[in-house]
Amino acid sequence: MKIVLLGAPGAGKGTYASRLKDTYNIPHISTGDVLREAIKNKTEAGLKAKIYMDKGDFVPDEIIIDLLKERLNQDDAKTGMLLDGFPRTIEQAKILDEIIGIKAVLKFDINKDVVLRRLGGRLICKGCGEIFNKHKLPPKQEGICDLCENQLHQREDDTEETIIKRYDLYQNQISPLEEHYKKTNNLHTLDSNIDLSDPECKVLENCKIILDNIKSKL
Ligand code: AMP
Repeated sequence: MKIVLLGAPGAGKGTYASRLKDTYNIPHISTGDVLREAIKNKTEAGLKAKIYMDKGDFVPDEIIIDLLKERLNQDDAKTGMLLDGFPRTIEQAKILDEIIGIKAVLKFDINKDVVLRRLGGRLICKGCGEIFNKHKLPPKQEGICDLCENQLHQREDDTEETIIKRYDLYQNQISPLEEHYKKTNNLHTLDSNIDLSDPECKVLENCKIILDNIKSKL
């Protein structure tokens, strides 16, 4: 089950992927995480990518595509994946079509003011990657992950200026991507303005309905 997750930064792609991956037994592959891992390991690609990421710009295709192919070749991605952060442009979507056959695209819609609130308060576990929010989804103990007890941190590119730039870049690219996936795949749009912590939130439930339906047809 090869699924693409589209959405602006802060739309909840990572949060929902972390809740769906075990249910469907497929990995969550985030190109942002792949790049951050390359930076951590001080690889040549990682060091080049960091210059773009710190400014909130797109990393050039020749860097990201090689890293993505490498990740998709790993054993856990043989049966499928929840692909988060790729494609970001129509050119990347066309390249992805050549690499893997996508079964469906889940698009998480979100407004700019909600993104600013969410990412401004976002805390990420250094150990397991679980996502919290200072205001809306705080950990039980300040600065500590509820799941693995590692430390929580804020991403370097979660500053207001960079958040706005990343959001605007996404908005500039989304229409052609949407048109592309309307033609070639199964595009599902979800309103992600409501937080997962809100009892009224049905986004996770709706994702599961879509994915169960796809799974039943495999
Ligand atoms: P994310 O974790 O998805 O918010 O991505 C963090 C940063 O990684 C982005 O702001 C970009 O600089 C870079 N990045 C991630 N995925 C891509 C991609 N598909 N194409 C270009 N740059 C990317």
